[in-house]
Amino acid sequence: MSCVRVAVAGCSSYERKGVENAVGMVMEELEPIGIGSGDRVLVKPNLLSARERREGVTTHPAVVAEVVKYLAGKGAKVLIGDSPCNRRVRVEELWERTGMAGVARETGAELVSLDGRSAVKVGSLGEEVYLTPYAFDVDAVVSVPKLKTHGLTQLTCGVKNLFGLIPGYAKLECHKKYHRGKDFSRLLAAVLAAVRPKVTVADAIVAMDGAGPSHGGLVNAGLVLGGKDAAALDAVCAHLMGFKEGEVGHVRLAGKLGVGEADLSRIEVVGEELSRLLLKSFKRPKANAQELVPEFVAKLFHRFIWVRPHFTERCTGCGVCVENCPAGALKMGDGKPMLTPKECIECFCCDESCPHDAVELRHGPLARFFV
Ligand code: SF4
Ligand code: SF4
Repeated sequence: MSCVRVAVAGCSSYERKGVENAVGMVMEELEPIGIGSGDRVLVKPNLLSARERREGVTTHPAVVAEVVKYLAGKGAKVLIGDSPCNRRVRVEELWERTGMAGVARETGAELVSLDGRSAVKVGSLGEEVYLTPYAFDVDAVVSVPKLKTHGLTQLTCGVKNLFGLIPGYAKLECHKKYHRGKDFSRLLAAVLAAVRPKVTVADAIVAMDGAGPSHGGLVNAGLVLGGKDAAALDAVCAHLMGFKEGEVGHVRLAGKLGVGEADLSRIEVVGEELSRLLLKSFKRPKANAQELVPEFVAKLFHRFIWVRPHFTERCTGCGVCVENCPAGALKMGDGKPMLTPKECIECFCCDESCPHDAVELRHGPLARFFV
């Protein structure tokens, strides 16, 4: 039986020599990766918003730098690009605060905003997907995600990182159209089918648990993982985080649709013994009750089964969440966002984009029974 390979290297901190060794080890295990001299390569880290590296929200620059250096060592010309969820953030601020400006200075890589060019429409697995043209005019995409929990998709790593290939405004439209978890999984599978990264290298040196992807706890997982199959890499990550096999919707669907391997028995893990790496105290994200009941039940009892944002005293009234609400369910009033509940599609973009950790997700009376 032929197996898909996922390489795992221990790496206890972001100290440079250790990261260089870990990235080098996973890359060597995956060779040949199909990238060579003269190739233009788009490296896609997770730059969700302009947060400092110590906050653990974005891919650490040490990991991005070592991936870039590895690719440059093969003679590739590297671009680093992403499209953050917060539409208000200035791209220069994004590069500086996440450490990508430093990576570019150190390695000579070019920084590109994936919001800077009009999206191209692609048909993929029966979906219409709008993607950055950079994904198609380079010779290869290399995904460098951060391992975190996620309120809608349960985990974000290799596959979910590719959502950032959809430029800003189109991303909001996607949240509107695919707002239930199972629909969003379909979109993610379609993006993966349209843009297969040659390799994915995940920063799980410090991972995020609980209320990810923006406000969870930091966990010293001490790992760098790599794979040519983003879904297989995510399946291994899900296992380490304590999810049951098949529990993470987009990973399961990627396997079912044949765009990745989700069956752990067909994934060969090299480098470390998987059973020794389980993240035993990892806190799972709170389940979205709407996802735990059949759609018709969720619709019928929508007055009682809901998860909605509540704006805490940490709110500064900056208005970022209002601008990033795809459903127009928020408006500013009295220095704080005000929610129109019937407009809320429960996408949690407000929580993701809030720079002040001021959004608390609250469950309706019946929803509390399911989470
Ligand atoms: S909840 Fe967050 S993003 Fe929204 S206005 Fe308050 S501080 Fe700004
Ligand atoms: S209020 Fe928040 S959860 Fe509701 S639709 Fe807007 S961004 Fe999504």
